[in-house]
Amino acid sequence: MGVGLFSKKLGIDLGTANTLVFVPGKGVVLNEPSVVAVSLEDKRILAVGSEAKTMIGRTPGAIVAYRPMKDGVIADYKVTEAMLRYYMQKALGSWSFIKPEVLISVPAGVTSTERRAVIEAAVKAGARAAYVVKEPILAAIGAGIPIYEAKGHMIADVGGGTTDVAVISLGGIVFSTSVKCAGNRIDESIIDYVKKTFNLAIGDKTAEDVKINIGSALPLDEELSMIVKGRDLISGLPRSVEVKTNEIVKAISKELREMIKAVKDVLQETPPELASDIIDQGIIMTGGTSLLRNLPELIFRRVGVKATLAENSLYCVAKGTGIALEHLDTYKRVMIAKR
Ligand code: ADP
Ligand code: MG
Repeated sequence: MGVGLFSKKLGIDLGTANTLVFVPGKGVVLNEPSVVAVSLEDKRILAVGSEAKTMIGRTPGAIVAYRPMKDGVIADYKVTEAMLRYYMQKALGSWSFIKPEVLISVPAGVTSTERRAVIEAAVKAGARAAYVVKEPILAAIGAGIPIYEAKGHMIADVGGGTTDVAVISLGGIVFSTSVKCAGNRIDESIIDYVKKTFNLAIGDKTAEDVKINIGSALPLDEELSMIVKGRDLISGLPRSVEVKTNEIVKAISKELREMIKAVKDVLQETPPELASDIIDQGIIMTGGTSLLRNLPELIFRRVGVKATLAENSLYCVAKGTGIALEHLDTYKRVMIAKR
């Protein structure tokens, strides 16, 4: 199966919504929600990934949606290690006797201590060698941007929990920002809207379906519509209503404004030479929420700089981990490593 006999390489994109494992030569081999089920009583890890997600709502109070570097702190070292062990074993399958080389994405804002903690966790979890690289750099590599060029490139990675905007030049991050406003917040604003407007309670999954199926960043001339089912807040009984695109556009506009502010903030901090490069090249968008209808167009209208969706935008960070693993020498300057 193209498995190098004595070496095995895994790239792990630890996203706020989804964790992806990428194997060079194979692509994304695993894609599961970034959720860990922890029993709150004794802090035992009950399940990781898809299995943990199915426990949400069924095992009250015991579930933590998890991202190791969530608020700039390694929230729980043991959980990080368990999570990495789970993904490594699952990706390796019957090859799990081989200790892999692992490359893991970390948010741009983490400290060196935190990055080292992730490396330690990966080694404890069974990695032969572990590397970490900042997410915007990986997103750029995955989007096909020549990161070592003496030219400014702007990456806007709009994911589940965070929107990360960064300017990259000569292989480094010149300036970046991260706001906790992305896909999840859009879903929440749809839940709020349906509650206020129709007295109807809908779940997270339904809200996400609405966003993906009919949502848009700009009003549409020919609106899409969808029937959503929920629970009537007064009678307590199931009921359904029809929602249309343009009311959703309004309902999520506050969140979109916050994302656009993040882009503007970074542009305002960008040195003029690099800013002029960005005007020429446009903003490259990655992450799942960049797929929201018309989001690039909205950014263009509000910011005045062209925004382009990267190819396979959901997989850019994961793909970046794979490319970096295959070219360790080329990219070693952007890595922190432990062998
Ligand atoms: P993270 O890196 O934070 O884990 P991802 O880049 O995987 O996040 O993106 C996940 C987010 O993208 C979720 O909020 C999901 O609802 C959203 N998403 C996925 N596909 C689409 C789509 N076609 N339109 C709008 N949002 C989408
Ligand atoms: Mg991501």
